[in-house]
This record gives sequence, structure tokens and C-alpha cells, in this order.
Amino acid sequence: MPLQKLIDGFRDFKNRNGQPEFRQLVAQGQSPKIAIVACSDSRVDPALVFGSAPGDLFVIRNVANLVPPCELDDAHHGTSAALEYAVTQLMVDHVVVMGHAQCGGIASLVGISTPRPLPEHSFIKSWMSAAEGAFLRTRAQHPEADPQSLGRACEQESIRQSLDNLMTFPWVVERVKAGTLGIHGWYFDMTNEALLALDQVSGEFEVLG
Ligand SMILES: [Zn+2]
Repeated sequence: MPLQKLIDGFRDFKNRNGQPEFRQLVAQGQSPKIAIVACSDSRVDPALVFGSAPGDLFVIRNVANLVPPCELDDAHHGTSAALEYAVTQLMVDHVVVMGHAQCGGIASLVGISTPRPLPEHSFIKSWMSAAEGAFLRTRAQHPEADPQSLGRACEQESIRQSLDNLMTFPWVVERVKAGTLGIHGWYFDMTNEALLALDQVSGEFEVLG
């Protein structure tokens, strides 16, 4: 039964983490140095992909690992709130936006149909509109591309867009300008088992590992 697996997993976790380091982490509070924006996709859990330990990563997950632009209204901006906490309270040294291959959110943008019809009022649609500009640019650059190639290019372009959007938050700009915060675009290419990073000078993704 799937839920029993979680309970068994928790018992393992308790055995593994009932160690002095974990107790110390609980007692002292978290002070991760890296915040990572990743997709909710069940295959791209940053802690598993990078083999991180408790306390290492402040993880923000959403559909298609998007950073929306800074919008100063009173709507419920979950991703912006988590970023604010990471950047202004935890004072992380780095924010990594990690996109990935075969992203369902991006697939819905490039016209690959979703597994089931979306509800009439779709939160996915309005959320994904944050990547609409990335999609339009990608389609203009690759007018002949098939949906899969277009999806891959759009997954990467939306990372560029998210990095631009990060720089619309005043507290990100302030710390980047002060040299105390680095922002990075990574792409987990599950298809080829590779990790790519956006070279911010060339604008291209290069293999990291
Ligand atoms: Zn995804």
C-alpha cells in the first residue's frame, strides 16, 4: 500500500537521522546556503538528485519551476513568499532555478496535451502564463520544431525568464549588486542523465556533470 511505504520510510529516516548532527540541526535551526526552485515533478526532487542532507537546501517547488515576476499585490504568492524568506531571512548565498527535461507544465504551453482536460478555471493555465513570453520567444526562434524539441528549448528559455524575473525583486537585486547572492540556472536533463548550467555570458547551457 503506497501510504505504508511512507510510514516505513519515516521509520528508516528516524533511524538514520536520530544522530547527533540532526538533533543539533533541530536545536539550532536551519541555515541552508542554497535555495533551489524546482518543479513539483516526482522525478526531480533536488535532495535526491543532489544527494543533499537535511539542512542543506531550502527547496521551493512549483509547477514548471517558475519564478514569477515581482507583483506587489495581496494575492497569495507562494513562490515569491518562499524566495523572500530565503533571500531576506535565511540569507542564502545562492538561488538556483532548476528546470528539467520532459516537464509537463512546459508541455502544456507548447501544445502537448495534458493527460486529462483541464478544469474550466485552470490554475495551471494562469500560473503557466508566467512562462508565456519564454514560449513565444522559443516558437519564434524554432518555427519548424516538433513539439518535443520546442518543449526542450522552452524548458531552457523559461529558466532564462525566471532568472530575469528574479531580478525584479528589489531584495534580490540589492544582494546581487552587493555581491552576496549568486543566481543560477540549471537544467536537469533526465533524458540524457546530465546536469547543465546556464552560462550567463554566452546565454547557452553547458554540461556541468
Ligand atoms: Zn516539470
